[in-house]
Amino acid sequence: MNLKPDIHLYKKAIEISELIKKKELSVRDVVNYFLQKIYQKDGSIKAFLYICEKELDEQIEQIQKGVNNGDFGNSYLVGVPIAVKDIIATKGIRTTCASRILENWIPPYDATVIRKIKELGIPIIGKTNLDEFAMGSSTENSAFFPTRNPYDLSRVPGGSSGGSAAAVGSGQVLISLGTDTGGSIRQPASFCGIVGLCPTYGRVSRFGLVAFASSLDRIGPMTLYTEDCAALLYHIAGYDKYDSTSSSVPVPNYLEEIRKMWSDVESGKKVNFVAGLPKEFFVDEVDTRIKDVIYSSVRKLEEIGFRIEEISLPTVKYAVPIYYIIAPAEASSNLARYDGVKYGLRSAEADNVFSMYKKTRTQGFGDEVKRRIVLGTFVLSSGYYDAYYLKAQKAITLLKQDFQKAFEKVDFILGPVSPELPFKLGEKSQDPIKMYLSDIFTIPSSLAGLPGISTCVGFVPEDGAKLPVGLQTIGKPFDETGILFVSLCLEKIIPR
Ligand code: GLN
Repeated sequence: MNLKPDIHLYKKAIEISELIKKKELSVRDVVNYFLQKIYQKDGSIKAFLYICEKELDEQIEQIQKGVNNGDFGNSYLVGVPIAVKDIIATKGIRTTCASRILENWIPPYDATVIRKIKELGIPIIGKTNLDEFAMGSSTENSAFFPTRNPYDLSRVPGGSSGGSAAAVGSGQVLISLGTDTGGSIRQPASFCGIVGLCPTYGRVSRFGLVAFASSLDRIGPMTLYTEDCAALLYHIAGYDKYDSTSSSVPVPNYLEEIRKMWSDVESGKKVNFVAGLPKEFFVDEVDTRIKDVIYSSVRKLEEIGFRIEEISLPTVKYAVPIYYIIAPAEASSNLARYDGVKYGLRSAEADNVFSMYKKTRTQGFGDEVKRRIVLGTFVLSSGYYDAYYLKAQKAITLLKQDFQKAFEKVDFILGPVSPELPFKLGEKSQDPIKMYLSDIFTIPSSLAGLPGISTCVGFVPEDGAKLPVGLQTIGKPFDETGILFVSLCLEKIIPR
């Protein structure tokens, strides 16, 4: 007789982890369960670039030993496998950035988030697909293959963390890590019907995250449920001496905090928060079906006590152009290191050092990455630096002031994550500007360094599929607790 609990009855990673700690399930039971899911589903979704079959045995054994010894008492997620975007360095495991130039790169060290995850007994089940070097919004820029949307295989999962989003959205894992520079956690989370949180800049160490635009890059959790998101963020956040931009602001226990706040709501206490709807986020260009879903979610928040105000963020109309100066500028500098000398691809066809540089970079980088390097080199070049880069920096200051002003009146800013539903593969891949406009609502808070979360709040029927819609909540600096609470409220009041 099998008295073990059925894993599929437990939807949250934190619940499954409890069962492991109580020894009602073994780490192997759980990891095997999710491996089977991957084998069943990933043939069509293609979320993974690498599945850690070889590495898992040792991880499982070590973690189980720890569990048996009563270690990991402080881990909410022990034993529950995580998928990691393949731009985060994993010692001994290939980290490609979905680029030919790093196709065979095996990092000699772990990123800080990976070290933490290992210390908490969270097994790494695989590395997920992305747009090359995280540049893109559809995962079609992967040098290897595109990932598909779990709700409609003819559509994109969003990007650049499309693999991490699709892996969770299709139930192959419950938790994953993504990265967000201009929307790459939030937009794919929205497209795949999951929760994705981009923390305040500095909240999570970037050490071991392969750099795209260092002043904007962030690592964050992607999960099916808000509570798992809170637990995972709690586990990865905090100061790190290896990242000089990481913050020493204390890390609250997000999970405990939001649970307490929600239990107050349940016991009849009215929520006492004000949320702002920026009129710039509800313009004609946004699909009306998305607007309808967002407005109806906002009304439900009102019913539990949120007060809603219209606000304005006048500078957000410049956010996309600002971003496409700053991000490529930093990328052009960060990507200069891939020259065939120290690591990664080296072209075999070159006969001198200059042609080696040129051929390596020509063969190793895809079109979008090359476009950004050229753009970035141009805006930083002498004579243009002041006109573009410096001006864009000044414009960021104005954008930050818009947000500061808004946050004097409101606690949160709400709006859509994306102006449109998940689009078809190939629909925008030939038109970079169209693709760039996908991130029109996520880029503003990226430039301002603010935390944002995407929560699935509904579905829209289209071509026989139902396509998810994400609501974005932007918070004050370091108010991850607040935006997680809004996300939890949405999850509780909007039945899925
Ligand atoms: N889609 C945006 C870009 O292409 C954002 C990417 C990201 O956040 N990594 O740059």
